[in-house]
Amino acid sequence: MVIGGSFPKCNTVVVIAEEVLVIDPGCAIEDLRSLLMTQDLGLKDVDTVILTHIHPDHITHTMRLHRLSRCRIAANEITEDLFNDKEKMKQFLGFDKGNLVRKSWEQLVNEKMYGAFDEGRVDEVLGNGDKFSLGDITLRTLYTPGHLPDHMCIEILEPNLVFASDIDLTEFGPYYGHPNSSITDFKNSIQELQKGGYEGLISGHLKEPLVEDYHDRLTAYSRQFDLREDLVLSAILEGARSISDITATPIIYPSLINPVYLQFETWMIEHHVSSLVANGLVTEDKGKLSPL
Ligand SMILES: [Zn+2]
Repeated sequence: MVIGGSFPKCNTVVVIAEEVLVIDPGCAIEDLRSLLMTQDLGLKDVDTVILTHIHPDHITHTMRLHRLSRCRIAANEITEDLFNDKEKMKQFLGFDKGNLVRKSWEQLVNEKMYGAFDEGRVDEVLGNGDKFSLGDITLRTLYTPGHLPDHMCIEILEPNLVFASDIDLTEFGPYYGHPNSSITDFKNSIQELQKGGYEGLISGHLKEPLVEDYHDRLTAYSRQFDLREDLVLSAILEGARSISDITATPIIYPSLINPVYLQFETWMIEHHVSSLVANGLVTEDKGKLSPL
């Protein structure tokens, strides 16, 4: 593995077997080059890149690697469509042309994840449960939506690990800051991983990515949904009547210095408000929130 660590970088899995396969090339490209050099390989020797989802911090160097090595690019069918059309990708993430912080977000991606908007094409579509055989090592896809609808994990059947990508067990907690993220789907996907019986879970963002006691950690991670929802309900009970009233005191992010982070916070709070309304704890009348 190449440790990228926290956003805007991610951890990259490298499998060197019958071919050289890279999952989520969002680490520093120099670090990936150094790792390959320890095996007398270079960036030009990469045969395949697998993408777990369309987030810019996970796809950053895909086209850079493709230009150097002509590697094939594999992803699920939702990611394929978005990777092949970067305007669609922007819309999928909520940054359509009418979005007020689209320019700031594009600037953030270009500064910190340069290459993520490069045009390119996926060569191979991976269905849920598809296996990828590399001699002694077999990979298998596991669709795990929620974080985004296209999010998937990659099971490494020998030695029975799972690369859980952005079900990442970080202290920050689960991230669902886009209009099409889903708390319900995210919780169900965490349940799927709980059933997996793996020897360990590999996080897409922890600095020490291999977590062996992942069952307890997933339970604690999942609890953050409810903790945050309680804070949103408290804010409404204390008089907040709109999403912007609630985000005036940030719940998810410690501080909101960048307007892009305020947008992420807003989308996450909106998911909680919808859930509180659905559960009959809050009413919404013409955008005005009230406790029941
Ligand atoms: Zn992500």
